[in-house]
Amino acid sequence: MLRTHNCGELREGHIGQKVTLSGWAQAVRDKGGLIWIDIRDRYGITQLLIEDDGNAAAELLETARKVGREFVLQATGEVIERAAKNPNIPTGNIELRLSDLEILNEAQTPPFKIEDETDGGDELRMKYRYLDIRRNPVREKLVLRHKIAQEVRRYLSGQDFIEVETPVLIKSTPEGARDFLVPSRMNPGEFYALPQSPQTFKQLLMVGGMDRYFQIVKCFRDEDLRADRQPEFTQIDCEMAFVDREDIINNFEGMMRHLFKMVKGIELPEFPRMEYADAMRDYGSDKPDTRFDMKFVDLNDVAQNKGFKVFDSAEIVLGICAKGCASYTRKQVDELTKWVQRPQIGAKGLVYVKCNEDGSFKSSVDKFYSQDDLKAWAEKAGAEAGDLLLVLSGELDTTRKQMCELRLEMGERLGLRNRQEFSPLWVVNFPMFEKDEETGHYHAMHHPFTSVLPEDAEILKTDRYNARANAYDMVINGVEVGGGSIRIHDKSDQADMFDALGFTPEEAQEQFGFLMNAFEYGAPPHGGIALGFDRLCSLFGGVDSIRDFIAFPKNTSGRDVMIESPSVADTQQLKDLSIQLDIKE
Ligand code: ASP
Repeated sequence: MLRTHNCGELREGHIGQKVTLSGWAQAVRDKGGLIWIDIRDRYGITQLLIEDDGNAAAELLETARKVGREFVLQATGEVIERAAKNPNIPTGNIELRLSDLEILNEAQTPPFKIEDETDGGDELRMKYRYLDIRRNPVREKLVLRHKIAQEVRRYLSGQDFIEVETPVLIKSTPEGARDFLVPSRMNPGEFYALPQSPQTFKQLLMVGGMDRYFQIVKCFRDEDLRADRQPEFTQIDCEMAFVDREDIINNFEGMMRHLFKMVKGIELPEFPRMEYADAMRDYGSDKPDTRFDMKFVDLNDVAQNKGFKVFDSAEIVLGICAKGCASYTRKQVDELTKWVQRPQIGAKGLVYVKCNEDGSFKSSVDKFYSQDDLKAWAEKAGAEAGDLLLVLSGELDTTRKQMCELRLEMGERLGLRNRQEFSPLWVVNFPMFEKDEETGHYHAMHHPFTSVLPEDAEILKTDRYNARANAYDMVINGVEVGGGSIRIHDKSDQADMFDALGFTPEEAQEQFGFLMNAFEYGAPPHGGIALGFDRLCSLFGGVDSIRDFIAFPKNTSGRDVMIESPSVADTQQLKDLSIQLDIKE
């Protein structure tokens, strides 16, 4: 080893020892006869002291003077007590008086500061991601990711799960996004698809008798990107045979509890369950942030038919109660109104009712509603003196979505979304199908391998698009951490499902014949779940973006700006693949 210790471990107990450190020069301070260099590695920072004592130190000083930021150094010397101690770093009581300094490699001046607070913009840091990774905040996130992965493996292995790798060059998997395609040179004109998830393979493993499978696995979805999406991302993918929903829920609730305990030292309570329909009614979302209440209140019966046309013509009039916000000024309310009117939210307007301390009400619709009317609203919403009612109206789904955003925003403003507080739950009983309003087609809300909720089996036969699925999502703090379902394991049920989704029997056979054939050879009842690993890491790390937890992420155009990918393929490569480009600008 080119070091005896790392740059984070020396303490007063090492005083008097001769040690060798290797690392990068974070800062150099030259005071003439004295030079200090801060040397950094993955473990910390140690101060090096080069002193002119008139003898052999001249050469040492000369070397030290050549050192620039991010030079790679090997430094040997004696650990001594530091005169001016630095309580801000763990090695702050000591320093290393050098007897030998070697420059192992020089470095260009880095394009941004390699410190906790950097001056580098996002794009620049991504271009030089290997420098960004030297910074504590990035490194710590990768270490956290490693720790969570280790605990996942430990927990699941302890429950008899085995990790099985599944192929990456496969055939389309219907998870609802576009596939990435890979041309096959050996089979001209044919393409592999990269897996959107290992869904069908894990089911085939169940048919293969591997009754407890997991994999920490890359998945690929060609979707437009947002802060919390990447074209390639990682799932903790799991499947179990001979189970029902309770078994899956218990097992993975157990895993999550284990992770929180081991990684964050937090004991999570039992996860409550919420029906999908209730989540939509109360929070306008299938992944409600339940760290705070502020549930939606349906005001139709108290707000309609009083002459206010906007409400009378609305499908729904929804309110939320912002506790203690009656003191909002005109300016604050106007600002909130503008906020909901932004194109991202798209509300036409915002109605408010202030519940004054003296028991009176002040609203933006006083012209249409008496004090008694407003009192009825407040009572319905559980609003007390000092509270502010915020009301939106319109078409049901749209208004719910808008109100969901407003609720989250108010939660944020009121400090109710503490990142160190965790509120997990299961959302269950999703609809089986979802209608695409544009095309009129039905999609599987989870995926086409999801079975019907046992109590809806009859509905599936008579009114299939209204049946509910035996599917579940794990939600924490408004984030969908994972989702899964009990699968169909019977060939004819699977064929019915494809029929409901508009596949002809031939199309179903062509695309999923391999799975339906497997179901002819004794498929056990099975079910599973997949958890978004990147998202889980960001939740543990208290950060919104998943990019920070990925060593080499892509930007919002799906580009890796460091390796400059995607890039143009050369003519010969395309020829080998029998591909001719015809790109229209
Ligand atoms: N394959 C599903 C997904 O990626 C998860 C599952 O059903 O297990 O969402």
